[in-house]
Amino acid sequence: MTRKVQRCSFCGRTDSDVRLLITGESGAICDDCLRQAWDILQQHDTQEKGSPKAPLKSVGGLRLKDLPRPADIKAYLDQYVIGQDDAKRYLSVAVYNHYKRLLQPSSDDGVEIEKSNIVMVGPTGTGKTLLARTIAKLLKVPFTIVDATVFTEAGYVGEDVESILSRLLQVADYDLEKTQRGIVFIDEIDKIARKSDNPSITRDVSGEGVQQGLLKLLEGTVVNVPPKGGRKHPDQDYVHVDTRNILFICGGAFDGIERKIAQRMNTHVVGYNAIENVAHIDRNDLMRYIQPQDLKSFGLIPEIIGRLPVLTHLDQLDRQALRNILTEPKNSLIRQQQKLFAMDGIELTFDDDALEYMVDKAVEFKLGARGLRSIVEAIMITPQYELPSSGIKEFRVTREYARQQLEKSTVGIFG
Ligand code: ADP
Repeated sequence: MTRKVQRCSFCGRTDSDVRLLITGESGAICDDCLRQAWDILQQHDTQEKGSPKAPLKSVGGLRLKDLPRPADIKAYLDQYVIGQDDAKRYLSVAVYNHYKRLLQPSSDDGVEIEKSNIVMVGPTGTGKTLLARTIAKLLKVPFTIVDATVFTEAGYVGEDVESILSRLLQVADYDLEKTQRGIVFIDEIDKIARKSDNPSITRDVSGEGVQQGLLKLLEGTVVNVPPKGGRKHPDQDYVHVDTRNILFICGGAFDGIERKIAQRMNTHVVGYNAIENVAHIDRNDLMRYIQPQDLKSFGLIPEIIGRLPVLTHLDQLDRQALRNILTEPKNSLIRQQQKLFAMDGIELTFDDDALEYMVDKAVEFKLGARGLRSIVEAIMITPQYELPSSGIKEFRVTREYARQQLEKSTVGIFG
């Protein structure tokens, strides 16, 4: 008896022409058509903006019960990021709430958890990007970094915003659902601040126009992103990416914001109690008193500040933190070097005072943790070049060796 040829009810191909044919009562569908149908369904869901959505059972495979709790998130961050406890706690809670929000049951009670975009204020090279990147790694969600200054030219939701989302789409392997739950880190948000707190100064409106563009994105909008490889034909459909559930983490150094904080605190110091409080203020660490109105004084429009409800700060890294950064994180600079050499069968060790020397130099160059990396690279370039072909099995970096290598290094920062 001959076997009946099964065909896909949509494209008509037989089971030998396709990879997989799923059969039902009175029809069948091949893997290609199934994929297309899924895409159509996704686009349809996105376009139906505003329609009540069924609660999700899981986000990227994460269910509420197995979501990492804030303390777990912080413990994970601790493995990679030194210090910055405040920022870690704020981020852990915000990210946890973000995922609860995605999983929230449809609200009969009228309570709807709002999005908790985050803004991190702190000097450059203190770990803002590293924190955001590490969180994304933990949650296994697509993550991309953009510079807020890309908004400068267009100043509205246009090409630039498209390119951000198309990058996110790309890292999500063009999975729309994943993309829409990704994390975007917007760096240098302070660079689009209005230069003056006085909105009537017309010469300086560019910052405001740019902020309006960003606002749309933060609030949630549907952006038409060209499909994979750009839009080749006018009739080719755009991918409609909804930003409502994308978590935005913004970062900026906000140079000089301490002055605004000090001003605010001085002007608010009225009455007997206030004077008592002032006694407890640490003048060298004003950043920790940062409040949303300081961002406004710095030149962010209130609407943007309203869309970044979680505000936290990062501290300047002191000597001890820099020393720890060299060796403590799971993928610390020193461990990375040791791994590189281990792959050539060479055991690499560093004397304590060699590490201290690197910290001294990082402090001297005032480049924070960023400086450390250039310093380590500069010291290790010669051994990286010479040792793999030398037959040497052990190598020890002493303070003297580190000093010699650094001094003969031609890297610009040491001029
Ligand atoms: P920011 O975004 O604040 O300017 P980054 O997160 O890009 O700074 O930091 C630059 C590099 O410095 C990181 O890739 C990391 O190697 C190191 N670094 C900075 N801060 C820390 C920290 N707190 N703990 C561990 N490493 C850090």
